[in-house]
Amino acid sequence: MIHLGPRDRWEHIIFQPTPEAIQSAADILRSGRMAAFPTETVYGLGADATNDDAVAAIFRAKGRPQTNPLIVHVPGAVEAAKLTRFDARAERAAQAFWPGALTLVLERRADCPIATRASAGLSTLAVRAPIHPIAQAVLRASELPLAAPSANLSGQVSPTTAQHVADSMDGSVDIILDGGPCTIGVESTVLALNGPVASVLRPGSITPEAIADALGEPVETLTTNHPIAANAPARSPGLLDSHYAPRAKLRLNATTVSKGEGLLAFGDTVPPGAVITRNLSARADLGEAAGSLYAALREIDRSGVPVIAVAPIPNTGIGVAINDRLNRAAAPRG
Ligand code: AMP
Ligand code: MG
Repeated sequence: MIHLGPRDRWEHIIFQPTPEAIQSAADILRSGRMAAFPTETVYGLGADATNDDAVAAIFRAKGRPQTNPLIVHVPGAVEAAKLTRFDARAERAAQAFWPGALTLVLERRADCPIATRASAGLSTLAVRAPIHPIAQAVLRASELPLAAPSANLSGQVSPTTAQHVADSMDGSVDIILDGGPCTIGVESTVLALNGPVASVLRPGSITPEAIADALGEPVETLTTNHPIAANAPARSPGLLDSHYAPRAKLRLNATTVSKGEGLLAFGDTVPPGAVITRNLSARADLGEAAGSLYAALREIDRSGVPVIAVAPIPNTGIGVAINDRLNRAAAPRG
């Protein structure tokens, strides 16, 4: 077991992912405490999903509303089938996209050992098998299903580096495994397969078109500004609130910059005059833009500008996920 340094010195909390450090993370998780690790989407704040106290600690550490259910991470479909009613449609989705950035919402099995708190009391459970080798190594070493929401305070910008985790999770996590920057950079696509029609609840890198192809059936999309926000009970609690937000206000679809603003640019046409500029992708590549989104928002925010002007981002492919996150970051804050 690695000696863990004092809690006020983050350099003692961030570890390179050696076999020893991975075993330490697994030991910490098995003892009911929290460990942060990289996935291909963002860094996760992991805890034993079968342990009600450990799951409660995640909600407390993040300041996350109890009504917002967590995603449970597993090595693959075999383990997911021990938790949920993993029917033929789920098998097809897993066959096509697992391990990877697709979360499946399925009915819990009657004998599901996951804390009901992780599902926010719903009859369903969100499960995902990440492809990141460190996430896989931690899952296998701990031999636990791991609840692992993004390792940031609820509502704030998600972490895509180990240092981002250290910056936001002041004192609540016992170890952070450093896997470098996340390759995808936005959260997984959430796909509900518990109803008659497959429904994308949150856009991500895996598109509804790709899912429809793999399933051989139509896929509907219920996202940010869907009317379920106004009156019907939310299909996916927590989906519609202000989220992913920096301290600064966001001004979307900006083609000019006003005095005092920071600029989140995209492509090679960069309006002048910003106090600070970060370009998501000078070559207008949406995958690169997703990968740099959260780090860029954090850097601009750190400069202290009151407003971040955000260039228009094409709403195709993973651009839909980027715009979803930007819209929610710009949403009125409660
Ligand atoms: P996060 O952990 O912050 O990436 O958020 C996970 C998101 O997955 C939640 O905000 C929900 O929108 C969604 N989710 C998790 N569990 C369920 C579930 N049982 N039913 C519907 N949506 C879910
Ligand atoms: Mg999150």
